Amino acid sequence: METLQLLQQHLPPFALDIFRLCVWLVLLTVIFVPLEKLYARHPQKIFRKGILADLGYYFISSLLPSRILVAPMAVLAWGLHYIVPGGLHEWVANLPLWARFAAAMVIGEFGFYWGHRWTHEIPLLWRFHSIHHSAEQIDWLVNTRAHPVDMVFTRLCGFIPMYVFGLAQPIGKPLDVLPLLVMLLGTVWGFFIHANLRWRFGWLEWLISTPAFHHWHHTNDGSTLINKNYASMLPFVDKLFGTFYLPKKQWPVTYGINEAMAPGLAGQLLQPFLYRKTPSG
Ligand SMILES: [Zn+2]
Ligand SMILES: [Zn+2]
Repeated sequence: METLQLLQQHLPPFALDIFRLCVWLVLLTVIFVPLEKLYARHPQKIFRKGILADLGYYFISSLLPSRILVAPMAVLAWGLHYIVPGGLHEWVANLPLWARFAAAMVIGEFGFYWGHRWTHEIPLLWRFHSIHHSAEQIDWLVNTRAHPVDMVFTRLCGFIPMYVFGLAQPIGKPLDVLPLLVMLLGTVWGFFIHANLRWRFGWLEWLISTPAFHHWHHTNDGSTLINKNYASMLPFVDKLFGTFYLPKKQWPVTYGINEAMAPGLAGQLLQPFLYRKTPSG
C-alpha cells in the first residue's frame, strides 16, 4: 500500500498507468497460463505465432481507446441531456445500485451486440475488426488483439444506449462508476472467454458467455458457421436475433480468416487504411 502511494507521488500519470498494466499482466499470466496448460482445448505453445504483437495490443488496447473516447462521450452526454426527457434519468438515478447495474449490463450488451455485428457486416468496419479475427490460435491474450478504431466503435455502441437511459452520467458525477464497472467486468470476462480452456458449463452456457461460446465466434470451419455469437457476456441476445450457435460437446477445429493479414503490429494497425479488396466476412 505504501509502495503504491510512493509511486503515485513520484511517477507521472502515464508511467503509473504502464506500471498498473504490467501488474495486471503478471496477474493474468499467473492465472491463465497454468490453467491453459492443465485444461487446454487445443494443444498449443505459450509463445505462439503473434504473441509479441498481442502483447503490444495489450498496452495499446488498455491505454488508447479510453483516452480517445473522453471527448465524444462528453459531447454525447451533453447532447442527450437536452434530448432525453429529464424525468427518465431522475427515475433511473433513484433505482438501487444493483438494479442500475443489471440494467446497464443488459442495455449495454444490446448496444455492444449490434456494434459488434456491424463490424462483421459492414465492409469498412470489418477492415478494422478482421484483425481480432486473424488469430489462428486462440488463447486469453487474443482478447487484446483489436484495432483502436474497432474498440472505440464497439464501445461507443455499448455506451450510447446506457447514456440514453441515464445509466451513465457526464464525467465527475457519482453515477460514473456504472459504465466503468460494466467495462471492467467485460474486459476481465473477455480474457476468460478467449482462453484455451476445454471447460463446459451445461445450462449455465445459456446464461453467460463461456470459452466455447466465444471460440465459435472465431471459427473458420466454413461459411455456415461464421458470424455467430456476437454477445460479450449475455448469449440470450444472440438467441433473440438468431445468431446463437453452441453445440453441446463440439468445438471449432480451425480459427482465423481467409483474407491476408500483415504479420506485425505496425502493419496491422496500418492495414485497414490501405486495404481495398472486397472482404468476405
Ligand atoms: Zn467479431
Ligand atoms: Zn474474440
